[in-house]
Amino acid sequence: SAAAMAGTEQDHETDELTDEIDAKVTLQRELQDERKTLPVYKFKDELLKAIAEHQIIVVVGETGSGKTTQIPQYLHEAGYTANGLKIGCTQPRRVAAMSVAARVAQEMGVKLGHEVGYSIRFEDCTSEKTVVKYMTDGTLLREFLGEPDLASYGVVIVDEAHERTLTTDILLGLVKDVARFRPDLKLLISSATLNAEKFSDYFDMAPVFKIPGRRYKVDIHYTVAPEADYVDAAVATVLQLHVTQPPGDILVFLTGQEEIETVEEILRRRTRGLGSKIAELVICPIYANLPTELQAKIFEPAPPGARKVVLATNIAETSLTIDGISYVVDPGFCKVKLYSPRTGTESLLVHPISKASADQRAGRSGRTGPGKCFRLFTEYSYNNDMEDETVPEIRRSNLDSVVLSLKALGINDLVSFDFMDPPASEALLKALEDLFALGALNSRGELTKTGRRMVELPLDPMMAKAIVASERYGCSEEVLTIAAMLSAGNAVFYRPRDKALIADAARQRFNAGNVGDHIALLNVYTEWEESGHSAQWCLDHFVQSRTMRRARDVREQLEALLERVEIERRSSAGDLDAVRKAITAGFFRNTAQLRQDGSYRTVKSWRTVFVHPSSGMARVEPPARWVLYHELVETTKEYMRQVTELKPEWLLEIAPHYYQDKNLETPEPKKAAEAHLHCATA
Ligand code: ADP
Ligand code: MG
Repeated sequence: SAAAMAGTEQDHETDELTDEIDAKVTLQRELQDERKTLPVYKFKDELLKAIAEHQIIVVVGETGSGKTTQIPQYLHEAGYTANGLKIGCTQPRRVAAMSVAARVAQEMGVKLGHEVGYSIRFEDCTSEKTVVKYMTDGTLLREFLGEPDLASYGVVIVDEAHERTLTTDILLGLVKDVARFRPDLKLLISSATLNAEKFSDYFDMAPVFKIPGRRYKVDIHYTVAPEADYVDAAVATVLQLHVTQPPGDILVFLTGQEEIETVEEILRRRTRGLGSKIAELVICPIYANLPTELQAKIFEPAPPGARKVVLATNIAETSLTIDGISYVVDPGFCKVKLYSPRTGTESLLVHPISKASADQRAGRSGRTGPGKCFRLFTEYSYNNDMEDETVPEIRRSNLDSVVLSLKALGINDLVSFDFMDPPASEALLKALEDLFALGALNSRGELTKTGRRMVELPLDPMMAKAIVASERYGCSEEVLTIAAMLSAGNAVFYRPRDKALIADAARQRFNAGNVGDHIALLNVYTEWEESGHSAQWCLDHFVQSRTMRRARDVREQLEALLERVEIERRSSAGDLDAVRKAITAGFFRNTAQLRQDGSYRTVKSWRTVFVHPSSGMARVEPPARWVLYHELVETTKEYMRQVTELKPEWLLEIAPHYYQDKNLETPEPKKAAEAHLHCATA
């Protein structure tokens, strides 16, 4: 009968429910047991006691000892959040903040975004309930602007302080100051390296709490001769390890997403060729822009009999701990930001790592047992070429953004700001000049109304200025879209090898009129919107729908901020010059002029630069004579990425304080030749 049937169905459902609850209980028990095996666990009471007794503590412990995931939980359990105040923990990297928050939510048995959450730029996964909050150092810096005394926090943990990112360094100065007038605020500075004395000194001799790590012996192997191509060498080493070495996962350090994807592809191809002759190799990439749903994969153990190889950027050096690694392959390079205050150019360069980094990387193989590290450089190079420590970012960065933030916080006298390592005065001066040129500061170095609006936008000052300027040109809608597209990542288009030509053509269509990449990005977004955010449209046009969805999220957030700075949302209704002028109002420093040989010369600093091959402007005939670029990237040459054509007279109109006629004179090639002729005949 119907009643009986309903009964069985219900029983069935109840069974499933109990099974599910059972599974959850088992998982929780396992997680709680696992927590107790971490090195920090034995020091829990001692640590809590030290925190109770001191306002500021420096915590030092080997990567993987449980600093990031456990200490906030200990504090929460000990009642530090009972007063309604939050525990904040900063990370230099977005992926680390997300991944660690996910893990802690799981350990606490709560939904991510409830009691435990994370907040990174353009993505806030927290709620009213959140008491343990992971965030990037940049997010906390932004929170300072709205809450200069950090009143909603009871504990702030500046994690990964050894990384010495620019923002972390600024944060250290700010929290040190806050701690002075908020004696109830607890401050933990956490570091993975043993030279914690510097932090302790900086925080007026704050006690150092050391968590003794377990570290097994790591055998270091060097190459006999320098490697010509470290990507090839890395692939060969991984394959050799896989076929010759006993079980244990492999961690390879590469410099960025592109390199990781190349290695992934080669490894897949080569292992497929070997078929069932070798054990399965599970390849797991991890880098900053890896989609969230794939990030968790690196923590999953490989199936029985298989071996996992993790292809990672620097993120796996200390920010993320992956269990089960027995072999590390280290080519000895990473991407670093380098800034020249003289020319005002910042570039990302592939650069040899420091000895300290190399040692950290090697250590990743010795966490759970004896490990082996294969360095793809020579022992001579380690001893003689590599620097001891990585230079703090503050000594090699463009400071525009942080100076703007500090000014907004009312810190006018930057020279006497308590920097752990002061930036070069040249770089500080350059930042003040740049911000003055953007109209964010007045001639006395004070924040202007424009500057105040710019600060509200979590973007580079140049991009922020373009948005503020869009008001004047009546095109805030368009500039917002462009800003969102540029913030969503570099991977807008994809280019399958077998359809490269069709993909290129599809892409070139967005660059109608050859006005440039900024407008092309605008066109992509507009068409995608018109398609109703269709995934099929993305497929048809070789556009990455993931990037588009992200751009839409970013745009929505920027829209809300636009309201806050009281900029009306207006569309220029097809007037693309207006859009380009607004962009120019932000990026007028980034301009270049075509030379006869097809290269470009930057207008003010006279550097030789090229249009990046990925730019739609790389294939335009004749090439644009004057261009504006979003950024420079240095690989084999110095390339301009995101390039748009420009009319030189706009520079005089928009940035008269920065350009004079003489900057924009075209050296006449003909006249030069004639002059030469005259000389010859004379
Ligand atoms: P530390 O901050 O001292 O380097 P962590 O607290 O990050 O150490 O790591 C402690 C343990 O938690 C490690 O064994 C690590 O593998 C594990 N862990 C951290 N994040 C995750 C995650 N997202 N998924 C699975 N395990 C994780
Ligand atoms: Mg950590």
